[in-house]
Amino acid sequence: MSFEVFILGSNSALPAHGRHPSSQLLNHNDCLYLIDCGEGTQMRLTQYGLKRNKIDVIFISHLHGDHIFGLPGLITSYILSSRVQPLRIVGPVGLLRFLDVCINLEKTKVPFELDIIEIEPDERPVVLENDQLTVSAFPLDHKITTSGFVFQEKDKERHLRPNVIEEYNIPYQKINGIKNGDDFVLDSGEVILNDVLTTPPDPAFSYAYCSDTAYDERIAEYVKGCSCIYHEATFLSDLEDQAAKRKHSTARQAALIAKKAQIDKLLIGHFSTRYINLEPLLEEAQSVFSNTYLALEGKSFSIS
Ligand SMILES: [Zn+2]
Repeated sequence: MSFEVFILGSNSALPAHGRHPSSQLLNHNDCLYLIDCGEGTQMRLTQYGLKRNKIDVIFISHLHGDHIFGLPGLITSYILSSRVQPLRIVGPVGLLRFLDVCINLEKTKVPFELDIIEIEPDERPVVLENDQLTVSAFPLDHKITTSGFVFQEKDKERHLRPNVIEEYNIPYQKINGIKNGDDFVLDSGEVILNDVLTTPPDPAFSYAYCSDTAYDERIAEYVKGCSCIYHEATFLSDLEDQAAKRKHSTARQAALIAKKAQIDKLLIGHFSTRYINLEPLLEEAQSVFSNTYLALEGKSFSIS
């Protein structure tokens, strides 16, 4: 079982100091999800030996160029390489028009099923649900409509205790139900409680992506109890006024959200180009929330 996020880019606005615009690759048990797709994302995927064809869903937070200008190139590569598996892209209203302008979807033969889902502003829809994961969007406070995303693992199955199948002669068809909490009734009518048959499941973990946004305490509610969150930290606190004006956050504010939300691990990113050395941003965040890490390109972080 794996649940980890790989950082492909975490600079704000433009490429600088060897850093690139926003993009992350989330790996959940070998299902790959791309989160934002700034310029150069394809090159980062290749550079790190990550398989772009295995990405099934792309989540776009908003339509600012540093979060989306890698998308037309990536889709063009999928078209040229005759991708066959379906691709879903989730993003704000306007995403379809953007892609249509870039790729001319009407006239271009797209050899795979392309499912574009536009999120209505200020709603909190479930945008993806499969056997293992539920992904929901939530609103952020930015200059244009922007969504964050919570990736929540579903409850896992309980573990069968050793030898119970033989001991109680449990038929194969009953095992799934027991792993999901059923008791078992013997031929004699005696009920064997689930606790006797199983031990608790592994915990369900969750990851939240919050970029770009001004400081907004509602975010702490949306991401409450997550195992790990990424929160933008464009500026240091001495530029808090500028952060507010530009609808961005400081490192301290990102850490305050993490603290209020009682999460386990905080990743900060979307660093302003003005910062060559990122350590002061890390120190500022850690002074409020100690378990903070810089979301540096090429690094991966375990969610579990
Ligand atoms: Zn933005």
